[in-house]
Amino acid sequence: MVEIRSVHKSFGPLAVLRGIDLSVRAGEVAVVLGPSGSGKSTLLRTINHLEKADQGWIAVDGDPVGYRRSGDTLYELREREVLRRRTRIGFVFQNFNLFPHLTVLDNIIEAPVAALGRPRREAVAAAERLLARVGLADKAGAYPRHLSGGQQQRVAIARALALEPKLLLFDEPTSALDPELVGEVLDVIRDLARGGTTMIVVTHEIGFAREVADTVVFMDEGRIIEQGPPADVLDRPAHERTRAFLSKVL
Ligand code: ATP
Ligand code: MG
Repeated sequence: MVEIRSVHKSFGPLAVLRGIDLSVRAGEVAVVLGPSGSGKSTLLRTINHLEKADQGWIAVDGDPVGYRRSGDTLYELREREVLRRRTRIGFVFQNFNLFPHLTVLDNIIEAPVAALGRPRREAVAAAERLLARVGLADKAGAYPRHLSGGQQQRVAIARALALEPKLLLFDEPTSALDPELVGEVLDVIRDLARGGTTMIVVTHEIGFAREVADTVVFMDEGRIIEQGPPADVLDRPAHERTRAFLSKVL
């Protein structure tokens, strides 16, 4: 589902991704761990083509998001086509990023209607189903500012799901939440994992990683230092840097 090969990305002189190789199969959950500044968010943004890789190759469901392949040559796609392809990838951010001036329902139907041209009535019915799925059936008419952080994040997840993505990316989805609200958001993500959604989740929630991840990926300084099943990486890390990191977050 996701194939990442030798991806490099720098910001000016700063090499942030220094040769990333990662595969995530359909239905799998990869959890990405690593210290601040190790390149986790940049990796997610590069998968989504919000950042362009300087070198290397990323394909999601067969195709790169930003390019068309012809023989051995890659051609950059127009912005419009990039946006269309990006709708196959849902992105959930640390700070929810809901539209503050739109109701919960309008937040969810905005992209399906505007980007995919779905009829409004269909989009509304789908949004109502999604709200029920994340436990917020009664909040369709509310504005984001009237919701708790955990509720806002669940709306953000419903909004991402409304595009029926092939892949969901989560960037520290619970880091901005009060501790008592973390569980309700992790429950929704866990539910999606059980339902077979392909996901890459950046999080420091080690218990969640142990329970839900098929693969745990530990990044440091722009490289993947270690990756494997949670029982290996979390309980028997092979590298000193992984051990040092885990001893801090556990
Ligand atoms: P955190 O755990 O703090 O979220 P991270 O692993 O997600 O960290 P990134 O956000 O990917 O790290 O950042 C990696 C490095 O790249 C950091 O040094 C950051 O300052 C730098 N960086 C990220 N985006 C940009 C940008 N647009 N321009 C310049 N530097 C950037
Ligand atoms: Mg980050």
